[in-house]
Amino acid sequence: MRFDVVVIGAGPAGATAALSLARAGRSVALVEKAVFPRRKVCGEFMSGTSVAVIDRLGLGGAWRDRAGPEVRRLALFSGERIVPAPMPGAATGPLGRALGRDVLDTLAVEAATKAGVQVLQPARVVGIERSGPGHRVRIAREGAQDEVDADIVIAAHGSWEPGALPTQGAKRNGPGDFLGFKAHFTNGRLDPDLMPLLFFPGGYGGMVWADSGRLSLSLCIRRDALAEARRRHAASSAADAVFAHLLETSRGVREVLALASLDGPWLAAGPIRPGIRRGYDDGIFRVGNVAGESHPIIAEGISMAIQSGWLLSNALERVDLRDADALAGAGRRYEAAWRRQFSTRIRAAAIFSAIAVRPAMADLAGRVSQAVPGVLTFGAALSGKTRALAAG
Ligand SMILES: Cc1cc2nc3c(=O)[nH]c(=O)nc-3n(C[C@H](O)[C@H](O)[C@H](O)COP(=O)(O)OP(=O)(O)OC[C@H]3O[C@@H](n4cnc5c(N)ncnc54)[C@H](O)[C@@H]3O)c2cc1C
Repeated sequence: MRFDVVVIGAGPAGATAALSLARAGRSVALVEKAVFPRRKVCGEFMSGTSVAVIDRLGLGGAWRDRAGPEVRRLALFSGERIVPAPMPGAATGPLGRALGRDVLDTLAVEAATKAGVQVLQPARVVGIERSGPGHRVRIAREGAQDEVDADIVIAAHGSWEPGALPTQGAKRNGPGDFLGFKAHFTNGRLDPDLMPLLFFPGGYGGMVWADSGRLSLSLCIRRDALAEARRRHAASSAADAVFAHLLETSRGVREVLALASLDGPWLAAGPIRPGIRRGYDDGIFRVGNVAGESHPIIAEGISMAIQSGWLLSNALERVDLRDADALAGAGRRYEAAWRRQFSTRIRAAAIFSAIAVRPAMADLAGRVSQAVPGVLTFGAALSGKTRALAAG
């Protein structure tokens, strides 16, 4: 099989890149290892700044029909403190909402299929090799190995799983690593328009109403704080320890979940790999978390994934995919656009997470926010909540 483009991974970054390149007339294969629908460690909130892009992708209608309520306010839950504040841009919209990743990612792959993308699923990319001016991509599926040739490869496989691909990181295991957890609940008591940000010792998280009456709770915790929580609570599982730690240290979480029931199992992933990475190297483009990742404290990863897929497909417009110089030029344009759009929020998120995990600093942040709630609104603006991408 031969394609112009092979995209690895059908999360929001890969699906956006595949869909927009197929609409631009490229032949595209999208390879996804998981069977959809599948749940994922993610808070599931998508900022209003990406609505114009998903409208252009033809996904906006389904997203509006299915997603949870519009988020007009944020709040800081830190220890005993509960501080609400307006979401920046709430008066002008469009507003962000949360949609389960089991639903969102499935919708995006269905749209890609309709646009002519060849979806190979479940199928795992296990190797990428140079082959003439293009690449040979090795794929494992149904116990057998296949090969697909393409002019370019787009790595959209996320960043949390180590592996042997040139775009994957090595295994890591340090006390300061952040591990991700996520669960859905029913019968939570949270104002529909409110998205609380959780600061707790050793970690941070968030809560928001998603689709179908599901309350999404997601968090990141340092590995050393998790080990300590497991000791303190003598918990049999990491998720039980994290949840006990959260309930013990956050009045807001206790109140929201007082009558709530877990809907499905806890999920865990990570460690996450925040930072800014290459966007292009030797015929391989990177989108979504592979290109760069913010601490999820700012809930911008889905937007960054969708918008980076869109930016890349714009940079590749009318580019001869067999011309190495033309590809390098597209790579430079894409990396520059990527940094303009995302680097400020990645740095801001690193600072917010450093504050959140340290009890003394989190307490100070709580006091300051209580005195001046506009600080929270300003922080959300710094994190990209008003930085829409022109989707023209
Ligand atoms: C606790 C937590 C909460 C978060 N909350 C939010 C939030 O509320 N809002 C927000 O915007 N962001 C949030 N994020 C971040 C967000 O989840 C990610 O940034 C986003 O999922 C990145 O999208 P992606 O398309 O780059 O990768 P992913 O969504 O990770 O998708 C990658 C896909 O590639 C597939 N894949 C991997 N390897 C292979 C392979 N070798 N072959 C084939 N397929 C492969 C995977 O199965 C997966 O489907 C959160 C993250 C965490 C950890």
